[in-house]
This record gives sequence, structure tokens and C-alpha cells, in this order.
Amino acid sequence: MRKISVLGSTGSIGTQTLEVIRQNPDDFKAVTLTCGSNIDLLYDQILEFKPLAVSVFDEGKANELKKRLNDNNPEIKTEVFYGEQGDITCATIPEADTVLGAIVGVAGLKPTYEAILKGKDIALANKETLVAGGDIIMPLVSRMGVDLLPVDSEHCAIWQCLWGERKENLDRILITASGGPFRGYTREKLQDVSLENALNHPTWKMGGKITIDSSTMMNKGLEVIEASHLFGVEVDRVDVVVHPQSVIHSMIRLRDGSVLAQMGKPSMILPIMVALYYPDRGPRLLEEFDPFDPKCSNLTFERCDTSVFGLLDLAYEAGRTKGFMPAVLNAANEASVGAFLKGKIGFLDIEDTVRKVYEEFLPRNKKENSLDDILGFSNEAFIKAGELLNK
Ligand code: NAD
Ligand code: MG
Repeated sequence: MRKISVLGSTGSIGTQTLEVIRQNPDDFKAVTLTCGSNIDLLYDQILEFKPLAVSVFDEGKANELKKRLNDNNPEIKTEVFYGEQGDITCATIPEADTVLGAIVGVAGLKPTYEAILKGKDIALANKETLVAGGDIIMPLVSRMGVDLLPVDSEHCAIWQCLWGERKENLDRILITASGGPFRGYTREKLQDVSLENALNHPTWKMGGKITIDSSTMMNKGLEVIEASHLFGVEVDRVDVVVHPQSVIHSMIRLRDGSVLAQMGKPSMILPIMVALYYPDRGPRLLEEFDPFDPKCSNLTFERCDTSVFGLLDLAYEAGRTKGFMPAVLNAANEASVGAFLKGKIGFLDIEDTVRKVYEEFLPRNKKENSLDDILGFSNEAFIKAGELLNK
């Protein structure tokens, strides 16, 4: 049985992970749960899964939750922590062997790092952790001998295609992208898109931040960097293939020209299961894949127009430049997407702000960075973006 700390249990990936655990109680146990502030849902999750400990990032909300549990459910012994230290306490609890990382943003980096140091296997959805800290996380994973199990659907697809293949035979990674809600738009047309338009993703239902990242194509940029870390290739060996039907979740090309793909319905349940059952396979929870479904009758592939979606090119640039620039790129994007989600800025202001912050930090970039360096520059870039956004 895998005993799991679910970081970000109230989010899109977190709730789907708990669904997998709920359906397979003999195989999995949720040992700890954490969230940002949604204590109403966390409360229900505590009653259902009876974890040993939980953490709420917001201290006030954590206290509110503690009181609610004391008043209504004195029989429940779940400990309640808060803040970053609370996330770390839950991620490193001795009773768990695996951490499912589904916090959104670079906030997931420190807890993931500490969990690896304690020898936990990591099932990772939280791509920002690898984008910002991949140079630190990947060597640590090797040194500690833990498994890093990709949950991001494209990476889970690439990973499965690579099972049994020799690393030196991997030629290129072809990472697929739906293209988001604004596929085919011109730059002019993007000027007028609203938050509501951007939140309307054609094929995937996900949390707010990643949905906006999909509409700017930054999600794919982050995923290219994520793939370069996970599979040990330079970003220029990762090609983005826009595939609007989201049936092929990614492909690899091998030295002899063979191309392998992983296919299925666009659902995160399967990648979560693949990661948590690795190296075994779990039962089928989803409706069977039907190649005769009309959605599969016309699978198409196109290039991304980076003259319209400039953040994808900037992410490649950051991936080539390395050092702390991917962390800066990510932090500026987190700040900008946060402002866009609050309705404070226009759609194209996201790219504009990220680019300005990126260019400002570039002359200071250095190759070797500690975790504290990465977190420090990330924080500085987040603040800088906030200043630009409030002008
Ligand atoms: P979400 O916004 O739905 O959920 C985020 C979760 O993180 C929530 O439970 C929130 O309370 C929690 N959280 C936020 N800040 C926290 C903090 N400081 N400490 C503890 N918990 C905190 O986001 P999501 O869509 O589930 O995405 C989570 C991660 O998975 C992201 O990195 C995203 O890029 C990645 N991902 C998501 C999907 C998807 O389908 N949703 C697919 C692939 C990858
Ligand atoms: Mg993905």
C-alpha cells in the first residue's frame, strides 16, 4: 500500500487524486492533506480520509479549521498545521512513503525538496517546482534514490513511451498542446479577450492558473522546461506540436525514426493512477478508449505561432539560458497571471510584464544556484512584476 501526502488536496489535481484513493482503498491511504485556504473542502476531506495531519497555508484559516474540528468532531485526532512549515511537516511525515505534489506554483518547491531529502517518492503535478528548481531537484532525486513520477499528462505520456528504452536512443520529444482557447487568433484579436474567454479551455478542466497558462501557451513553455529536466535533454530537443483534439498526450522519436505515442481521453485520473501504481498498473477507472469515437476520426497537428504566443519562445530562451532565469520567468508569470485572474490587467499585459522582468534580471543571471538563491530570485522577480503591474 502506498501511503500518500497529498499537497494541494483541495485543487483540481488534489481532488482527482483523492478520487483515485477513494476508489482504491486497499492500494492507497491519504496520510496528510494540505491546502492554501479552502478549509470548507479540507474539513470534508478530513472527515472522509481521517489523515494524521493537515496543513492550511493561511494561519487564520488553519485556526478556524482547528476550532471547527474541536467543536464538532472531538473524536478526530488529525493535527492541524499552517504556513510553509506546515506544508513541510506534512510532506515529510514519517508515516508517508509518497508525496503527491499538487500545490500550484513555486510554493511547492521547498516542501518537495524536503520530502526528497527524507527519501519520499514524488508524484509530481506541480511543474513550477521543476521549472524553477529542476537543477537542484533532479540531482537530489538521483542522490536519494527516490522515484520522481510525472503526473503532468504530457510528461506521464513521454515517461511511459520511454519505459524499456535506452536513454541514448531518445532523439526528440514531441510534446502535444491543445492550443488553448485562442488557437488561430491574431495578436490584434488577443487584445480584446476577456478573463472569461481565457478561462474557457476547449478540452481540459483545471485550476485557474494553469488554465490561463494554457491560453497564453506559457503552460507549454513551462512543460518544455519540465521535460528537459525530467528526461535529461536540452530544451531544443523538445518540439511543441499543437494537437487540438488532445487525444495523443505526447510522443517520442527514437534514433531509428520510430515514433511512440501515448493516447487516451483528456483526463488527469489516468496519469495520477500511472504515477501512483508505478511500476504496476491499476484497474481501469475511466470509460474505455474508443478509436471509433468521432473525436478520434480527425487527429490534426500544427505548429504553434510564436509570433502570436510569444511566451512560448521566451520559455525556450529561459530553458537555454538556465541559471535562475527559468525561476524568474516563472515568478513573473505567477504574479502576472494572478493579476489577470483578479481582473486587474489585460491579457497581453501578462506577456509584456513577464518579458520586462525577464530582461531586467538577465544581466545578473548566474549558472550555479542554491535552493535559497533560486527562492530569493524568484521572490524578487515576483515583487518586481507586482510593481510593474500596479503602475
Ligand atoms: P488548483 O488551483 O486547482 O489547486 C491548487 C491547490 O494548491 C489547492 O488545493 C490550493 O489550496 C493549494 N495551494 C495553493 N497554495 C498553497 C500553499 N502555499 N500551500 C499548500 N497548498 C497550496 O491547481 P491545479 O489545477 O490542481 O494544479 C496544481 C498543479 O498541478 C499546478 O502546478 C499545475 O500546473 C499542475 N497540473 C495541473 C493539471 C490539471 O489538470 N489541473 C494538469 C497538469 C499539471
Ligand atoms: Mg500538461
